[in-house]
Amino acid sequence: MAELKCPECKYTIDLDIPDNMCLPFFKCSNCSKIIKAKKSCCVFCDYSNEKCPVSHLND
Ligand SMILES: [Zn+2]
Repeated sequence: MAELKCPECKYTIDLDIPDNMCLPFFKCSNCSKIIKAKKSCCVFCDYSNEKCPVSHLND
């Protein structure tokens, strides 16, 4: 479980991290904006306190 923080409204969303895929965007349940990853492959890397599993595969 990761805590995703919406960059628009700063709302925090609890979301399960998928085992083997990136999540390139998510919809904020508070402001309904579609939040896309910018720096990374995955919104978890950009906006949460966790990293996505895929980013560690090639380490
Ligand atoms: Zn939001």
